[in-house]
Amino acid sequence: MEKVKVDSDRCIRCGACVAIAQENFDYGEDGESVVINEEVNDDVRKAVDMCPVSAISIEEVEETEEEKEAA
Ligand code: SF4
Repeated sequence: MEKVKVDSDRCIRCGACVAIAQENFDYGEDGESVVINEEVNDDVRKAVDMCPVSAISIEEVEETEEEKEAA
């Protein structure tokens, strides 16, 4: 399954991803973007394209046993 990640060191706090995909991103304590929902959807893909510093990435990860059971 795919999960979204943000490199907070690279993030320049422009807010684009939070505006585009509010269900997935929010502002952290220092105004950086943090992932609040790792599920990848069309809005997340748009945010990946819009991030000016390519701080957002989508990674293919193995599902945990717990996630498999919950699915
Ligand atoms: S779009 Fe990129 S630079 Fe802008 S807040 Fe999101 S992660 Fe940070």
